[in-house]
Amino acid sequence: MNLTPYFTLGELTVSETASRRGIDNTPDAAVMSNLKRLAEFLEKVRALAKRPVVVSSGYRSPELNKAIGGSERSAHMSGLAADINVPGLAPYRLASLIAESDLVFDQLILEFDSWVHVGLTVADPRREILTIRKGTGYRSGLILFASDRGPSVV
Ligand SMILES: [Zn+2]
Repeated sequence: MNLTPYFTLGELTVSETASRRGIDNTPDAAVMSNLKRLAEFLEKVRALAKRPVVVSSGYRSPELNKAIGGSERSAHMSGLAADINVPGLAPYRLASLIAESDLVFDQLILEFDSWVHVGLTVADPRREILTIRKGTGYRSGLILFASDRGPSVV
């Protein structure tokens, strides 16, 4: 089922952990409407990057979120967050594109060298921008560490 032209409900709810552990990750009506909003946001990211966006994690039921060790207040649990990549674009570049755009987000987190977390909100968006790297914790802003200057940087 397509939520928007380029994003399906399936790709925003699929989880290897959920299927492996038999965890129900079916969204309810409120989450569904948030996922639609999230997909609309991802369409804008796709247009900005001019390339397809790959979602590695979207909606997580509370049980799934717990199973993968997600934050207790994770926006993934309300269907308002996605972990994304754009093949051919380093995560830092993708995060920079979004940060420098006029897209309205609550949280943009560069999970250094791995993916970009985008979080939306139904309240006032904080437009908070953070970088997290294993071993250093969260830091404010987008930080380009040396190991991100690989051939994937465009
Ligand atoms: Zn995330």
